[in-house]
Amino acid sequence: MPTIAHLDADAFYVSVELLRRPDLAGRPVVVSGSGPRAVVTTASYEARRFGVHSAIPASRARRLCPQAVFLQPDFDEYRRVSRAMWAVVRARVAAVEVMGLDEAYLDLDGIERPRAAMRALVEEIRAATGITCSVGIGPNKLVAKVASDAEKPAGFVALSREQAAARFAGERPSLVPGIGPKTAERLESMGFATIGALADAPDEILVGEFGPRLGPWLRRRARFEDHSPVVTEHIAVSESRETTFPTDVGDRGEMEDILRRLAADLCQDLARKRRQGRTIAIKVRLDDFTTITRARTIPAATNDIAEVGDMACRLLAEYDPPRPVRLLGVRVAGFAEPEPPVEEPQLALPL
Ligand SMILES: [Mg+2]
Repeated sequence: MPTIAHLDADAFYVSVELLRRPDLAGRPVVVSGSGPRAVVTTASYEARRFGVHSAIPASRARRLCPQAVFLQPDFDEYRRVSRAMWAVVRARVAAVEVMGLDEAYLDLDGIERPRAAMRALVEEIRAATGITCSVGIGPNKLVAKVASDAEKPAGFVALSREQAAARFAGERPSLVPGIGPKTAERLESMGFATIGALADAPDEILVGEFGPRLGPWLRRRARFEDHSPVVTEHIAVSESRETTFPTDVGDRGEMEDILRRLAADLCQDLARKRRQGRTIAIKVRLDDFTTITRARTIPAATNDIAEVGDMACRLLAEYDPPRPVRLLGVRVAGFAEPEPPVEEPQLALPL
């Protein structure tokens, strides 16, 4: 069984700000944009006590906590600190899948005493960058992710799959990454208001409501079953479609619809050009401008709309965007050698 850790910096943007503004330590600090539709990007734990959380409107945060210090995000600085963090991690762990500026999955396979190693790593990150992290450790990415979030800040939680299922059985399904608020609402109206209830939900009811892919997937998530690998490589690609949204998308079902539309558009174009590829990839840009690609190579080249769409949705589920998404793209690459041009019929030599 693999051992996977999820490493997640605590209130990352605020923590970076406090490194250069130590006078603000202990005060409610909120990082948010300033426009009329701006939302909170990160709130310090002091601000969270007033009900200020990520993604609420900045105007509401000002009402809830007028004494808070509001700062504009400085992504250049966040990226600089983030790079320093991951340099420390990569020096110790070979397989690192960075999910955003402040979180990553680590495959601890082959690392002796993984818990002790992670405690040492957290300390090393703090010494090198001043950033505090929470850690979750489990047999898969899903357990690790939920565990890292369970006792923030400076949390350190290691759970088996069974322990995770038992510990979070009474929580709402939206605690599980990948189950968005809309899906959680639908589940609740169906009588599945907790992770435990969803884990025991009959297959046919879930399939009836969510379809043959999403339905069983939701229940597997509630059981903390997850076989997605820690993926580190990026593959160069060649034909793609992508789209940026007017407002960030947080709902998995909506993201899947968009990926399938992009796949259909791309595949129709490939079919016209008589091209087929073996590598299918997605591109995801989060609301903090983190951009990732994920790719998988299949045995036979394709330009089939359903096949490319299915794989794109699977890659999305495996990546499991940790924040709302502002851009999605689909690519097909690894094209088979183009057919040799049809020989021109030999012209009869003039006599
Ligand atoms: Mg974080």
